[in-house]
Amino acid sequence: MSLPGQLSQIAHHTQPAGQNNTPNEASADSNKQHQIVIVGGGAAGITVAAQLLKHSRSLDVAIIEPSDKHHYQPGWTLVGGGVAPLSTYTRDEQAVLPEGVTWIQARVAQLDPDQNRVITEDGRAIAYDYLVVCPGIQIDWHLIKGLEDALGKHGVTSNYSKESVSYTWEAIKNFKGGTAIFTQPATPIKCGGAPQKIMYMADDTFKGKSSVGINTKVAFCTAAPSMFPVPEYSAALNQVVKRRNIITKFQHNLKEIKADTQEAVFDVTTDNGVEEVSLHYDMIHVTPPMSAPDFIKQSPLAIAGAGGWVDVDKETLQHARYPNVFSLGDASSLPTSKTAAAVRKEAPVAVQNLLSLMQSQPLTARYDGYTCCPLITGYNSLIMAEFLYGGKLAPSFPLDPTQERYSMYLAKVHVLPWLYWNRMLKGAGFEADMLKPINQLVHS
Ligand SMILES: Cc1cc2nc3c(=O)[nH]c(=O)nc-3n(C[C@H](O)[C@H](O)[C@H](O)COP(=O)(O)OP(=O)(O)OC[C@H]3O[C@@H](n4cnc5c(N)ncnc54)[C@H](O)[C@@H]3O)c2cc1C
Repeated sequence: MSLPGQLSQIAHHTQPAGQNNTPNEASADSNKQHQIVIVGGGAAGITVAAQLLKHSRSLDVAIIEPSDKHHYQPGWTLVGGGVAPLSTYTRDEQAVLPEGVTWIQARVAQLDPDQNRVITEDGRAIAYDYLVVCPGIQIDWHLIKGLEDALGKHGVTSNYSKESVSYTWEAIKNFKGGTAIFTQPATPIKCGGAPQKIMYMADDTFKGKSSVGINTKVAFCTAAPSMFPVPEYSAALNQVVKRRNIITKFQHNLKEIKADTQEAVFDVTTDNGVEEVSLHYDMIHVTPPMSAPDFIKQSPLAIAGAGGWVDVDKETLQHARYPNVFSLGDASSLPTSKTAAAVRKEAPVAVQNLLSLMQSQPLTARYDGYTCCPLITGYNSLIMAEFLYGGKLAPSFPLDPTQERYSMYLAKVHVLPWLYWNRMLKGAGFEADMLKPINQLVHS
């Protein structure tokens, strides 16, 4: 591994001040090299690029991102719940790219950190001095037998795909009664609370129609042993399911959908080992298993033995073996709940430490594991579950964070998307003033 100071084989591509690339110069941009290459132009990639270019417009930053659309995925729970259409949370990738970045519209197929380059699916080799890896999480639909064929029809749905999320609302709205199952897998997932948020919205909708509510059983079937990994929030959610008469089935890991007989097959962990259990469903919302993207698992950047995530220091976000590589977001090994809120706090740390490294300064910025899962518990209530490494509660407001609040629901629907598009993706650091709109809402 060569350190940046030793990267003499790679010429710096530094733009003259004031002369910026416009986004999307990329298609013709083959076998190039850039000072900083970012893999993935999602929540983390755009935020990091925007913060870097805000620091200095003379930095040469390239983003490799295949999609021409950018999705605010935290909004997908609201799409599934019928609050807004998918288009509300979709923008052109071009529109969210910061000015001055080079967009290479391609998919990375291989990481080659020993040669300081990445290889794209269409065969381009892109060299870098510094690399930021943030291609998100991989959804392993195929690991649930029968799911790919069943998804999006006959009551089988998932908020975890832009293709099926709108169907979730169709399935909920048109539900005629029976058993509605909501699942959560055994793997790490993005937004650990999302599998149950949509359940509370569905339950409200079913109960709003007396003929449906009376004839309906709602069940939460989770591979986890409790409602939530942080005990204080888990206790609050226990009260929510109890109040709603929702059936909870812990240690239930979905492994098959039998669409023809409307059965969901689970591996259930008991004191005596693992048993197979089949449950009938009339509607099922599946949260599929997830893992690190395969091209990361297969690369030298992967952490040994533990899921194949990019192996970074949990405080500095620097790679454990390749100092000129940083990673953040869902693809990283950071041992926190994978959310866009976490990215918002990770990005300034990654950026500050990357800039320090470029100037041969010590890496002083530290990430404390902050994450936030806005746990929607109904159409007008939400528990703002904020916490740090080790599950330490970290409320942003001087209020009991385990309480369901209408103000926090309003923040989720109206304030957080605004902050995402207008502050976070524009490279705002996470200064205190970013939270001012929510503070005002809470205290009004
Ligand atoms: C239903 C749902 C509800 C959620 N709710 C919340 C919530 O309430 N609050 C919250 O904070 N978070 C929530 N999240 C999680 C949040 O969206 C993610 O944690 C966040 O987007 C992670 O950012 P990221 O940049 O790591 O990944 P992403 O935003 O997923 O971006 C990854 C990018 O990498 C690109 N990419 C993938 N493969 C490659 C490749 N091979 N080469 C190049 N580029 C590639 C993708 O096209 C994508 O643009 C939710 C997610 C879902 C799906």
